[in-house]
Parts: sequence; structure tokens; C-alpha cells
Amino acid sequence: MAPSIDLIPALLLNLLAAVGLGLSSTPADSESLAAPLSYVDLPEKIKALPPDERDEFYDFVAGNTLFVIYHEAGHMLVSELQLPVLAQEEDAVDNLATVSMLAADSDNMDIYLYHAMIGWFLIAEEEYDALVFYGEHDLDQQRGYSILCMMVGADEDAFLELAEELGLPDDRIESCAFDYEQAADSWEFVTDPYLRDEDTPAGKIKIAYEQAPADLKVLADFLKEKQLMELVADELDTFYDLPEEVTFKAAPCGMDNAFWDASEREVTICYELLGGFAELYLDLLSDEN
Ligand SMILES: [Zn+2]
Repeated sequence: MAPSIDLIPALLLNLLAAVGLGLSSTPADSESLAAPLSYVDLPEKIKALPPDERDEFYDFVAGNTLFVIYHEAGHMLVSELQLPVLAQEEDAVDNLATVSMLAADSDNMDIYLYHAMIGWFLIAEEEYDALVFYGEHDLDQQRGYSILCMMVGADEDAFLELAEELGLPDDRIESCAFDYEQAADSWEFVTDPYLRDEDTPAGKIKIAYEQAPADLKVLADFLKEKQLMELVADELDTFYDLPEEVTFKAAPCGMDNAFWDASEREVTICYELLGGFAELYLDLLSDEN
């Protein structure tokens, strides 16, 4: 079922209009948000949110986190299945994240992907640093527009209005269906030799939660409750015949980032990354007020 733009959280769209979208851009030369790493006020700020803003806040954190989990899982697949990658791997695994979330074809997942897309524009707005044109990743706004282009390319009925509203020009929109199909078909083609026959998870991906710092406990509990790592793990474990056991781990890292470590066969989602997404949304609210 295709969602309509009515399902896209109106509150966040209004906030974006209020702060002005797309005026500047910045780099994150990794998945890192490069935000200050103090979350002392975070639990209080979350508690103080009115119920409608709190729901959207949690959808924003969940959507952005889920996108990063799929992105890192993409690095894991490239590494473990020794997949060919013909351009920037970072772009390829952003595509995997986008295509996977669109393939779920649920309103819930579309809203998560919407938040992940908006997240890149908000990171760009924060102007943490100078533009890095030599980075492994595209610039943040480009990453946002790539997701948006794939969304409208996959389902014009659902996302055309949104794409236009966010300033994607008509001539680009026309090419987005091809971009989407090429990305989806390419991932399907290169992973085809590794598909599993069974439709229950193979159990190759283990999940681990390390203890979170006190200030981030509320977000760590949320991550566990939403089972976001489990969702991606079960999906990949069901689709693919992974050669070795792999771990998806949530842990404190001292930085707001996420990694695939090929030697440890481990994806790490840092609790600080959730903290960074939380601050990003809360900053937007306080800019507006
Ligand atoms: Zn990456």
C-alpha cells in the first residue's frame, strides 16, 4: 500500500520550513555527526517534550538509526560476500539502506526513511565543519537528495509532492525511477548467488547490547525495545547465506558513529549516535521556539 504525503509528519515539515531548508551544506566524513558529546541534559529534554513532539522525536531517532544499521549491514554484506562495488562503497550501501526500507512497503518504514532523508539535510544545516569534497561519502545534502530521489523513483504517487516540496527539480525527478531501478536491480543481481532457500532466519547474526552511559540509557532502552538491530539482522539472515557468524552490537564508543569491523566481523552502533540524532531533532525544536 502506498502511503500518501498526509502520512508524512506535518510537524517536522513545518519546522523545516521555519528554519529554512537547504541553504548550506557541510560534511560528515563518516557516519559521524561530529556533535558535542555531552548528553547530560538529554533525559530531561526528552521528558519535557509534549506527547505529539515526543512521538515524532522517537520516529526521527528510530528512522535515522535504522538507516545507519542498514548502511553498516551493507558494508558487512560487501565484505562478507566479497561483492563487487563499481563506485563509492558509501553510496552503494546508502542505496542498499534506501532500497531495503522502500521494499518493506509499509507506512511505518516510509516514515522512518523520510526521517533518515531529512536527517541528512539537518546535519548539513548544522554547519559543524567545512565542506569535504574529497571524503569517502557524498556531502550530506547529496545523501539526503539521493534518498529522496530513490523514494520518488520507487513510488511517484506517494512521494512526488514531497520531492517537489523539498526542491527536487522536475528534470531530476524524471531520472529518479531509473536510479532507483538500477540500484535495486544491481543489489539483487550481485547478492543473487548468496540467497538462502529457507524463510526463517539462519541465526548467523548475533545481537549484543553493551551497557549504556546513564545519560543515554533512555535511548539505549528505546533501541532495544524497538528491536531495530534485530529487524535488519533477521531480514539479512533470512535472505542471505552468510559464510560466518557476524555480530550487531550497540555500545558506548566515545563518539557518535557506527562501524563495520571486518576483522571482528562486527557492526557497532554507538549509543552516542542515537544521542546525536536526538540532539539534532531537539536543536531543530529549540531553533523554532
Ligand atoms: Zn559507511
